[in-house]
Amino acid sequence: MSRRLAAVLVLLLLSCSSSRDGLGNPGQPSRAADESSLLERARLLSSLALNEGQSHEMLSELTRVAPARLSGTPAADRAVEWAEASMKRLGLKNVRRERVMVPRWIRGDVASCSMILRDSEEELDIAALGGSIATPEEGISGEVLMVRSFEELRRKASRAEGKIIFFNRPMPRALLNTFLAYRDAVPQRSSGAAEAGRVGGSFALVRSMTTRIDDNPHTGAMSYEDGVPMVPTAAISTADANRLAALITAGRNPVLRIRLDCQSMPDVESANVVGDLPGSSIPEEIVLIGGHLDSWDLGAGAHDDGAGCVHSLEAVRLIQAAGLRPRRTIRVVLFMNEENGLRGGRAYARDHAQELFRHVAAIESDSGGFLPRGFSCNASGARAEAIREIVDELDPLGMGAYIPGGGGADIAPMGPAGVTLLGMVTVSHRYFDYHHSAIDNMDAVNERELALGAAAMAYMASALADANLPPEN
Ligand SMILES: [Zn+2]
Repeated sequence: MSRRLAAVLVLLLLSCSSSRDGLGNPGQPSRAADESSLLERARLLSSLALNEGQSHEMLSELTRVAPARLSGTPAADRAVEWAEASMKRLGLKNVRRERVMVPRWIRGDVASCSMILRDSEEELDIAALGGSIATPEEGISGEVLMVRSFEELRRKASRAEGKIIFFNRPMPRALLNTFLAYRDAVPQRSSGAAEAGRVGGSFALVRSMTTRIDDNPHTGAMSYEDGVPMVPTAAISTADANRLAALITAGRNPVLRIRLDCQSMPDVESANVVGDLPGSSIPEEIVLIGGHLDSWDLGAGAHDDGAGCVHSLEAVRLIQAAGLRPRRTIRVVLFMNEENGLRGGRAYARDHAQELFRHVAAIESDSGGFLPRGFSCNASGARAEAIREIVDELDPLGMGAYIPGGGGADIAPMGPAGVTLLGMVTVSHRYFDYHHSAIDNMDAVNERELALGAAAMAYMASALADANLPPEN
């Protein structure tokens, strides 16, 4: 392409005429022109995000106004108010709360674990898992049966009666994709209590889901199984898990005394928060972007998923600041209750079932505010190729990885209706250092990395809102 043509395209982009006669021409756009303008668009959005971005400020505000916004708490209510006010301030239309009933689990004030040896007693760092029942007031005391898998627990079932079952399989450190490492180990957290209850154990103590060795227990969701005795359950920090394991391996036979006073209450009303940036020429078609507004209650929820919320809000601000007028509507949805119920994601898919066929794509950011690498996507065939070409344009910015896969948990319920799902992929080596722990706070967030995530989201949302996408085949 000539330099002059490229200059004209940049001017077109800057003069806000992108939609009808430029980027989004629904006829047969020149391929070269289309690609050049997409790259220019990505550069413009990222320079706006870096020069005058507001994502860091927005995330500071959210984590200050509504830290530890676990579903059903006053902090989650404040997050809903913040989201609604933010969308209105950013000029989104039809801003509304969509009602969702959410579980209400209260951590309580007591989470103690004393490790008793013949000649000493010390405290270990634990945190109740979300949904756990309490221990009796005097606590649960017992010897420990350490296992690394459910299969090992079944083999040792005859020794499990009355024991505290200690699930100590670490996340595999060698996996470059830390989300795959998480997936390998996390069944211990989600189903450990049920497995322990099934073999007569008294408690499920689970190694925290992180490869980092430190003193922070990482909470997270768990569930009980019908017909299986319910036992309380907690995460133990990786440093204390290692100490406990070393003593057990050395035959020291420690006894633990654990107390939790958490409790589950009846469901309460909460909301997804939704707002639209109306499309300029086909407003009835929707590209949905979002993250989840709720977080765990130990830290401020900066990375998980305050970052995804501000990625989405800042994306619509950047699109407007860049003078883009995407053809389709870009809808921001900040979902409630991803962490311990997924009620918001399910409610959106159910309540919007009649219009899901008009959802061209949904993009979730729920991998933290780290440097974006690209996007995962569940499309196939020609549609996947078209989306891959759009993502490829981010390559010169280091964000052009296209990874076949799904989107986030909140948008997954739209998958069966045929909505194309995408997830922002980040450099995730530090994600699980903070995930669901007391250190998921603002000081763990880099301003530039967060800003680039918002730019990537703005690019992908606006490009998909303008693109001529072939159907799945
Ligand atoms: Zn999350």
